Amino acid sequence: MSNPVIETKPKRIHIIPLEDEAMHSAQMKCWCHPVETAFGLITHNAKDCREAKERAGLATYKGWVHIAEF
Ligand SMILES: [Zn+2]
Repeated sequence: MSNPVIETKPKRIHIIPLEDEAMHSAQMKCWCHPVETAFGLITHNAKDCREAKERAGLATYKGWVHIAEF
């Protein structure tokens, strides 16, 4: 006999910039116009434009976080 497992699958996973100039919400209607970069994977756009620095290989000292949307 095994215990029943209740599995809750997130609708999407959001990749959100930490310590950005404005708060993001883990939803498609976020102000930053997030883009689905892979199936079920939503990438948000940082207001501080850190992506440009990251692409150039420069340190931003800021991270990104994965947040599940249910
Ligand atoms: Zn956002």
